[in-house]
Amino acid sequence: MKGKLYVVATPIGNLQDITLRALETLKKVNFIACEDTRNTRKLLNYYGIEKKKLISYHDYNEEKVSTKVFRILDKEDVALVSDAGTPCISDPGYRIVNLCRKKGVEVVPIPGPFAAAVALSTSGLPTDKFLFVGFLNQKDAKRGQQLRDYIELGYTFVIYESPKRVLETVKEIQNIDREADVVIAKELTKVHEKFIHGKVGEVLNYLEKELDLLRGEFVIIVTPSRVEKSVDIDDNILNLLNAGKTVKEIVTILSEKFNIPKNRVYKRVLEIKGQH
Ligand code: SAM
Repeated sequence: MKGKLYVVATPIGNLQDITLRALETLKKVNFIACEDTRNTRKLLNYYGIEKKKLISYHDYNEEKVSTKVFRILDKEDVALVSDAGTPCISDPGYRIVNLCRKKGVEVVPIPGPFAAAVALSTSGLPTDKFLFVGFLNQKDAKRGQQLRDYIELGYTFVIYESPKRVLETVKEIQNIDREADVVIAKELTKVHEKFIHGKVGEVLNYLEKELDLLRGEFVIIVTPSRVEKSVDIDDNILNLLNAGKTVKEIVTILSEKFNIPKNRVYKRVLEIKGQH
């Protein structure tokens, strides 16, 4: 194989959010595998990149296109882009990359925008651990079960949601966990970029009053209330220590109050006690 497959991330809204390496790569290849050729042309035109052969791929024809891309790779490099952001993430492209990996083609990442990371990094929610869930199931019952499972895990999680279902999804989150923190990131990097954040009930009230906002692209970030408990516990331990409670008393009080295992509270009390 002479060619390499470059997996190139492109902007999620603001066309200036593209790396120098991405531009360099798009300039040097002759073939670009993309989703909607009109979207990719717009990006290429913006940067004056001309005379590229675009090969359109979608979920339904990806297998066929993979073979075509593979044949080109026999002779030269190909860049793979999606309509926006990082290819293969809630986007097609996986089958092409998978085939290249299996057949020993070199796959080169050209990283860049990824809506989930953009939203997480500006959410102000705990991000030390998070779960990216992408699009939820469209059927109400399955979506409800998925949300219950993710909330139960206790990590911050990131959803890609269609504007049609944002309200329903936030309502469902409220039904499951009234104390969850939610950030809605709308139209990131675009003119109408907006963040709505607060306890799930506050976010829901706001959205219900501003239904006009429910247009465009959305990322929903949820931090279940269980995560907060582990954060809050430190203050509680300190208060109880200052109030003269014994380690044993603190363990009993807090494990019952927050429904967390005694050994976890015990370990944390000893750590905090050691620092004071
Ligand atoms: N591959 C893309 C990425 O790297 O993030 C995701 C593509 S997926 C088909 C499109 C979904 O990503 C949208 O429905 C929305 O949930 C989210 N998204 C993409 N761009 C966005 C933006 N500018 N603002 C908010 N959400 C966005």
